[in-house]
Amino acid sequence: MKILVINTGSSSIKYELFDMDMLKVLAAGTAEKIGEESSVFTHKRILPNGEYEKKTDIKRISDHHVGLNRIVKILIDKDQKIIKDKNEITAVGHRVVHGGDTFHSTTLINAKVISAIEQYVPLAPLHNPANLTGIKVAQSVFPDALQVAVFDTAFHQTIPMKAFLYAIPYELYEKHRIRKYGFHGTSHAYVAECAATYLGRPLTELNLITIHLGNGSSMAAIKNGKCIDTTMGMTPLAGLVMGTRSGDLDPSVPFFLTDNMGLSPKDINRMLNQESGLKGICGTNDMREVIKKMSAGDKRAKIALDIYTYRIKKFIGSYFAVLEGLDCIVFTAGIGENVPYIRERCLKGLNRLGIKFDSEQNKKAGNGIKEISSRDSKVKTIVIPTNEELKIALETKKVIENSG
Ligand code: ADP
Repeated sequence: MKILVINTGSSSIKYELFDMDMLKVLAAGTAEKIGEESSVFTHKRILPNGEYEKKTDIKRISDHHVGLNRIVKILIDKDQKIIKDKNEITAVGHRVVHGGDTFHSTTLINAKVISAIEQYVPLAPLHNPANLTGIKVAQSVFPDALQVAVFDTAFHQTIPMKAFLYAIPYELYEKHRIRKYGFHGTSHAYVAECAATYLGRPLTELNLITIHLGNGSSMAAIKNGKCIDTTMGMTPLAGLVMGTRSGDLDPSVPFFLTDNMGLSPKDINRMLNQESGLKGICGTNDMREVIKKMSAGDKRAKIALDIYTYRIKKFIGSYFAVLEGLDCIVFTAGIGENVPYIRERCLKGLNRLGIKFDSEQNKKAGNGIKEISSRDSKVKTIVIPTNEELKIALETKKVIENSG
């Protein structure tokens, strides 16, 4: 069985083609700057030894339909030897960012599902319209394949009301669905399952804190395998300090900016989403650069990292409390997997919570699953590479099998 996973953005399509029988990636790539004169198409054919052959092509891709056809063309190209015909693709698994409180799990797409995803456009105005475009284009390019939606929000639907409801007039929840939803659910779910496998224990008996640190960052508190709280909110702006997003701040700050600086809601939205976080404090959102700057004595980079790690540590403490017992902490995504300094700063001084890490192991971690806790640590700490595309492919397969 072959499954194509696609993640459609407003001007991009990321794809990964899986052979589900062999559980391996056959090809992957991106069509970027769709609609611009010099769109960038990058394609990797994965070789049997795990290495890849890469092709890049800069040529106008006028819209997403043309983009997906471009992807199909290279997948069925005779020289590439990936697949012979697009009909070999049984299903397309779509990443959909916001499923609101309608979708608790992965879903086979039909007209009703599409209109529900449309209904959540106001909650994810940048993402859901693009995801819908991806679905519609895939339906026309692959008329015989099953289309499946995997929601970033679904894993967090087990969060209880006391944790998801904001203390604002209740009607806003009833009428407008204003509440915490949480994101990165596919990643949190994936690494939680990997942690259970690594520890050799059923996920349903484990309490975990999963820490996803990429450009966007979030944490989840998982009790007996179910998510009970997460740091992002109604939108991905809440919670941790991120590359360009502020994370939590006093809700009065935007009023101050309006009243005293004349900023419009649009200006503030842009500032908090694109000009804040690490970038707002020290001028760059690339963690590699921030670390370099700090090492060179840059004070802003140092304070940016202080705020960044302090916020994570604070959430570790609060999730430790609400979980009432912690078995394992997982670090994942670009920063969580690759930056020992960040992990150390988040974990240091937590011995009394039973969280002891091994400084040497922490420095060695990289490529693959790696335990970084000390042998006598009550709480295990593991670095686990996330793989959202694989999780989407596995979820898609499960839905197809269950749909008969
Ligand atoms: P996205 O949310 O876009 O998927 P990633 O998970 O790829 O993001 O994480 C991007 C972040 O990870 C960037 O800040 C980048 O600098 C950082 N990062 C990735 N690899 C490394 C590395 N080897 N060392 C330091 N930082 C890294």
